[in-house]
Amino acid sequence: MPRFAMTMVACCVAAGSIAVSSQSRGAAAAVAYEGGRLILGDGAAAVEGGSFVVQNGRITAIGRQETVTLPAGAAHVNLSGKTVMPGMINVHVHIGYEGYTSWGAENYTAQNVWDHLQREAFYGVVATQSVGSSPTDPSIQFQRDQAAGRFPQASRFLFMPGMAPPGGGPDAVLLKGTTTLHAVYEVSSADQARAAVRGMAAKNIKHVKIWVDDRRGTYPKMTPEVYNAVVDEAHTHGMKVHAHATTLADQKAVVRAGIDVLVHTVGSEKLDEEFLAILREKKPYWTTVIGLGDRTEVCDNDPFVDQTLPAKVVATIRATVEPRPLAPSCGPRSPNAAAREETLAGNFSKMIASGARLVLGTDAGIHPGYTFGSADHHEIARWVQFGLPPSDAIVAATRRPAELLGLADLGTLAAGKSADFVVLNANPLENIRNTRQIDSVYLHGVRLDREALLAKWKK
Ligand SMILES: [Zn+2]
Repeated sequence: MPRFAMTMVACCVAAGSIAVSSQSRGAAAAVAYEGGRLILGDGAAAVEGGSFVVQNGRITAIGRQETVTLPAGAAHVNLSGKTVMPGMINVHVHIGYEGYTSWGAENYTAQNVWDHLQREAFYGVVATQSVGSSPTDPSIQFQRDQAAGRFPQASRFLFMPGMAPPGGGPDAVLLKGTTTLHAVYEVSSADQARAAVRGMAAKNIKHVKIWVDDRRGTYPKMTPEVYNAVVDEAHTHGMKVHAHATTLADQKAVVRAGIDVLVHTVGSEKLDEEFLAILREKKPYWTTVIGLGDRTEVCDNDPFVDQTLPAKVVATIRATVEPRPLAPSCGPRSPNAAAREETLAGNFSKMIASGARLVLGTDAGIHPGYTFGSADHHEIARWVQFGLPPSDAIVAATRRPAELLGLADLGTLAAGKSADFVVLNANPLENIRNTRQIDSVYLHGVRLDREALLAKWKK
């Protein structure tokens, strides 16, 4: 196959599962990682005293230490006291606009996309999907370039186009960026919607986002005629539809229409039996994206979050006390916070019990208070706070998003998988916040130089 055709395949087929990415060229020599606790990402009990072998960027054998045969001449890495889990996968961010001292389309460069992917990787996220806000052709080009070896040592870049009525779609912050870059496909009719989806399918794109939201009467909202057409056309082409909807009525409508991924959790109304019945029937994937509405952890002086942010940004957020919609503030909690919390907790549990298939998504990229990588750890800890067992939270951050995105080589620790994993100094099955105790991150068998990245971000 000619080189060009190969990279096309690498960039576009199911957005992954392909061995020719830059990160696929792991070290050829075998390395044995020995004697740690292995969380495989499949929801099963952890393997205590486990070992695995990595060669050419792939896991070639894994199991209890005594069952794993080590190749002669393998290098050894001692994992005693450590816990290993698969690299996480984030199915919902908005990449490219955040500049940390500024925000907007002027920051949207391939270098900045790479920077955001490095931030995700720093925190153990090995594949990251930008949703509805990344311009299509530059994003395809970035995927080709990453597959060809540019932009190494970063989270694997995935993206999907977004569709909305003219003047609708992304929130007020994001809209400024997407409008400038013409990143959202604007469609007013079913025919336009079908044509747009066919255009995406022709580029081998497998996912599309729609917004169904009038932003409290301030935006045009996508009509049922249009979103039904999107769903029908997308499914005809084997594509999945991710739907932003924040009210109970809109969530009912889009899930009933057959969307595949529900984005957001209703936070201002209690879910009712009618919706739960729809969920039980349809079982959509679902990204909570709760953390963007939470008080930022930057307020709590948490070095885990602060370490990748410029000191000036941290200081500015901490000094801000007035409430700012879609922007971080460390002022008093909103008077609505307790009610929101109670509603979210109840709705989260009902979504899980009704069979919604939880996957990790953060909405990071809108503001620095909830940003690439650290946000992932906040989001999964929120699930556990709402009662999800930590092992289920890890599955929802690893295996299930890999399944949703068709990333056949990621999501679990198993023979044949890409060696994309996180080594932790503490066990997240005991306390989910131990996902923050990162010793090291490996991408396709290569240890990420986290210290060099920190030095870059603190410059
Ligand atoms: Zn979003």
